[in-house]
Formats: sequence, structure tokens, C-alpha cells
Amino acid sequence: MRSFVYQMMPSRVIFGAGCLEKLPEEMERLGASKALVLSTVEQRRIGLEMVERLGARAAGLFDRAVMHVPIETAQAAREEAKRLGADCCVTVGGGSTTGLAKAIALVSELPILAVPTTYAGSEMTPIWGLTENGRKTTGRDARVLPKTVLYDPCLTVTMPAMLSATSGMNSIAHCVEALYAQEANPIVSMMAEEGIRALAGSLPVVVKEPGNLEARSEALYGAWLGGIALGAAGMALHHKLCHTLGGTYNLPHAETHTVVLPHAAAYNAAAAPEAMTRVARALGTGSAAEGLYDLAAALGAPLSLAGLGMKASDLDQAAGIAAQNPYYNPRPVTRDGIRALLQNAFEGRRP
Ligand code: NAD
Repeated sequence: MRSFVYQMMPSRVIFGAGCLEKLPEEMERLGASKALVLSTVEQRRIGLEMVERLGARAAGLFDRAVMHVPIETAQAAREEAKRLGADCCVTVGGGSTTGLAKAIALVSELPILAVPTTYAGSEMTPIWGLTENGRKTTGRDARVLPKTVLYDPCLTVTMPAMLSATSGMNSIAHCVEALYAQEANPIVSMMAEEGIRALAGSLPVVVKEPGNLEARSEALYGAWLGGIALGAAGMALHHKLCHTLGGTYNLPHAETHTVVLPHAAAYNAAAAPEAMTRVARALGTGSAAEGLYDLAAALGAPLSLAGLGMKASDLDQAAGIAAQNPYYNPRPVTRDGIRALLQNAFEGRRP
């Protein structure tokens, strides 16, 4: 018998090639007139283009977004927003840039208009993260959910092939876990399955032809669905494990998700058969775990934790940390079970 909770996320989404043109009118729609534009230093050029595009509606550019939102960066951005009298934030970039706007919104309630340029999906979630003294804290707060998101695939064609592959696998991970998370529900499951289908179909083309706008559009559509899945259904073993590996051993975010995902799926396969059927169907394969591994391999993405720089001598400790705090997972999380999973992921074995 069905039993579930479904919480809708109140955000407005504009999708399509060239939709960036609507940014000024979307700002007006929110009643905002002075935007602090945020970017990374690598994407400073597009940040400046955004300032130019907004003209008098731009208060300035803060181009110091970095991975995992260090508290010092968050403070500096918050002060800049205050100093310039900004009444909204416009982000152009991936999860790191969206994350910085969320850190501002958390204390100021400034509305966020997000223009995502990767497949991370943060723009669709009320999840914030802040790193202080090497420890990342995350939380949920409705105030940090972007009010408006403009998905313009034209901005993703510059994403390097390998970032596209791993960022896309990161989004597929959001979809896979949403299918067996505690808060899984029929609407999000439909979106998650469709998200995997869209990403798995488009990523091989994106990696071969980064300028293919049709494939970019399909991948970004999948990433939107992955973001909804992450925000609405919560997560389980895979995301907790990647959080541990990233936080404790400083492994890169999207690459770690890519390596761990097939092994997390294999770990949960027998305990979540319906979810695995959906994943396999979306991938067009017989087995979810094998299909995920084969997709990552076909994209030329990293397949082993060893390849990401993890040391074999850290695997015992990592398994201990990951099994320390109890959390929901379809198959109970045991230290020995995680240790075996990590060994497979370390060696990059096909599940
Ligand atoms: P990122 O935002 O760190 O971007 C990686 C690099 O690629 C940056 O230098 C960026 O400027 C560059 N880049 C981004 N888009 C580009 C493009 N189109 N062309 C050229 N260069 C481009 O990477 P990410 O994977 O998007 O985000 C990772 C971060 O987001 C992590 O800190 C992760 O924890 C966080 N995250 C948070 C959530 C959430 O819901 N809160 C969800 C997913 C990820």
C-alpha cells in the first residue's frame, strides 16, 4: 500500500537556449533592482558579461566563489552585498557559486536568481553548506532556495568534457538515491527516472561534442530533474559516503560521486529492487550497478578511488567514519559492508 509525503519546492524555472536574455525582466518580477553578481575567478569573464547585461540593475561582481564555501569567503561576500546595498544575488556558475549565494541568503534573506552552468543541481535545493576549520556543515533552510532559475544550455557548452561527465554522473547519483531514499515518493521517482534517461542518453554526445547544443540541452534538462530529486527526496548511503570521502580526504566532489555510485547501487541492489529496475530501465541495461559503471567508463570518467588519490591505508578509517552515525539506507549500513564497498571502489572493479 502506498504511503508518502511530497513537499513541493516553490521556485520558478525558465529553460531554453537563449533564456538568459530574460534575466532583467525576471529580476523585475521579483521586485529587485540591484544585483550582486557572483562567480568563480575562472568564470569572471561571464560574471562581467552578466554585470554588463544587467546595466544599472547590477550592484557589482564578487568573483571569489570556491568549492565548499569557506566561512571566510561567505563573510566577505555577505559584507560586499551589504556594502553595495544589493537587494538580490545573481549567480552564474556551478554548485560552488550557487552555494556562496546561499550563504548570503542564509543571513540576509536576499533572493537568489541562479544561472547554473554545471549539472550539480544545487539551484533546486534548500540545502546550504559552509566550511569552517576544515569541517563542512550542511543544513536545510527554505530561505536559501533560489527564487528563480534560468537554465540556458548555451552557458554549458564551455564546460570541459571531463567536468561534464563527472558533473552529469553526480546528477545521476541524485536521481538514483532519490529512488530509494526514505522520502522517496511517486512524483519524484518519475522525475528521477526521466533524469537518468535524459543524462545517460546525452552525456556520451556531450563528451564527444561539447558544442552540441541539442545534447547540452538534454543533459541540462536531466540535471534540473536531478536537482529536484536531491532537494525533494533526501539521500542515503551514497551521498553520506561521498560527503565523508570529500570532507575527510579532500577528494574532488563530482569525481568521487562518479566512482562511488555503481558500488553504492550494488550495495543496495537487493534491498531496493524497484528502484534498481527503474535505474536499469532508464539506462537501457539489465543491471543498474553494472550499467552505471559502464556509463562512467564510456564517458572516460575516473573509475577508482585510487585514481583520485585516496590511499589504501585510509580505507579502514573511512569505513569506520561512514558507519559511525546511523542514517536511513535501504540495506543496513555495517562497517564490514562499507569496507568491502570501499575496496571495490578503490580498485575500480566493475560491480
Ligand atoms: P564548481 O561549481 O566548483 O565548478 C567547478 C569549476 O568549473 C569552477 O572553476 C567553475 O568556475 C568551472 N565551471 C563551471 N561551469 C563552467 C562552464 N560552463 N564552463 C567552464 N567552466 C565552468 O563545481 P560543481 O560540481 O558544479 O559544484 C560542486 C560544489 O557544489 C560542491 O561544493 C558541492 O558540495 C556543492 N553542491 C551543493 C549542492 C546543494 O544542494 N547544496 C548540490 C550539488 C553540489
